[in-house]
Amino acid sequence: MRTLLTGGTIVSMDPAVPDGVGDVLITDGVITEIGPDIVAPDAEVIDATDRVVMPGFVDTHRHTWQTAFRGIGADWTFAEYLTAMHGTLKPHYRPEDIYLGNLIGRLEALNSGITTMLDWFHAAQSPAHTDAAIDGLRDAPGRSIFCYGGGFGRPDPIDAELRRVREAIPDGNGLLTMALGLRGPQLTTMDVTAADLKTANELGLRSSVHVGSGGARGSRPIAAFRDHGLLSDTLTFVHANGIDDDEIAMMAEAGCSVSISPDVELKMGFGWPMTGRMFAAGVRPTFSIDDCPSAGGDMFSTMRTAFAVQRGLDGSLTSRDILEFATIDGARACGLSARTGSLTPGKDADVILLRADDLSVYPFNNPVGTIVAAGHPGLVDTVLVAGEVVKRHGRLVHDDDLEPLMVSLRDTRNRIARAAGIPLDGSWRPRTESE
Ligand SMILES: [Zn+2]
Repeated sequence: MRTLLTGGTIVSMDPAVPDGVGDVLITDGVITEIGPDIVAPDAEVIDATDRVVMPGFVDTHRHTWQTAFRGIGADWTFAEYLTAMHGTLKPHYRPEDIYLGNLIGRLEALNSGITTMLDWFHAAQSPAHTDAAIDGLRDAPGRSIFCYGGGFGRPDPIDAELRRVREAIPDGNGLLTMALGLRGPQLTTMDVTAADLKTANELGLRSSVHVGSGGARGSRPIAAFRDHGLLSDTLTFVHANGIDDDEIAMMAEAGCSVSISPDVELKMGFGWPMTGRMFAAGVRPTFSIDDCPSAGGDMFSTMRTAFAVQRGLDGSLTSRDILEFATIDGARACGLSARTGSLTPGKDADVILLRADDLSVYPFNNPVGTIVAAGHPGLVDTVLVAGEVVKRHGRLVHDDDLEPLMVSLRDTRNRIARAAGIPLDGSWRPRTESE
């Protein structure tokens, strides 16, 4: 089966594949040729005139189960977020609520051009909750990494749980892969961290861990990993705001990656996003949405916040740097750069087509700069994942099935909010321990 994207403005994110007007040929889900005037008479043609043709975005960390409470925490502090989502709402989640949050959250990401998304799951109150989260990702036609963050609120290793989930998500050529969501030194001890990482290594899993410097978020977390011999190129540190320069150097030397959530980090007071400092020290940044109760779910606004903040701080970085972080570098941090993250012959066809004829970006000059400085989800016209068209003419292909699911998600929200006794009009400020 072949698909030919014709006459698009190609932004490949691969230095070996020149940008410019051209065609992309997809054969059995894989990019087989990129260039001008490709002849493929048997292929299904998608006219990409007035479209930017680029790799889909990669979100390297999102707590997708929280989708039903989108926007409710726009004003929350980090302490309020913890009290609200983990202390107040999470206990009322049933497996079917987790399923709907993960499914609709994944579809929203897909709709805005995020073809690869790491679901950082820390609502594993029972095996049924975990299985529901996995099912939600499986039922959305995106490339997803189920990052299993079991054991939240407990101090012991999660060896048996991790092995059980791994059996449900074996390695293969499917769209769903697995990683470990490590609690790390901020939620357990370094000995438990070492035990969890040992199991992950045995199972061939990458790991992702939230860290930060100072206060309740601990101090010198990267040095602690280094001192225990636990730094490796399969480890992604989430946030890492405020860590010392020598710790960034340790990350660079070990080949660790970083996931930066600029909106959440700024609004919740974690500190300045580390984009520029990481980049300058040789750690390629990646971007993540983190949580939709507090931040928008699309990569355009995430890129723009990161870019504007870094320019404000020190004038460094270019729009092309930012777009690389949001695509190919994200794919590397998910261990998937051989399959996605750029338009490269031999990689899976995870491709998005953005409208270059929309009034908001017209007339269209400087593709990369415009995408980063002025892009928005309304430009996402077509999305392909492994060659399958999942969005076309601005609508998800399975749009008809969407409405009942959206109604169910709203019902879920209403039930949980009622059970937790909270209003939904934005007036709820969770009471934290410090008050
Ligand atoms: Zn997070």
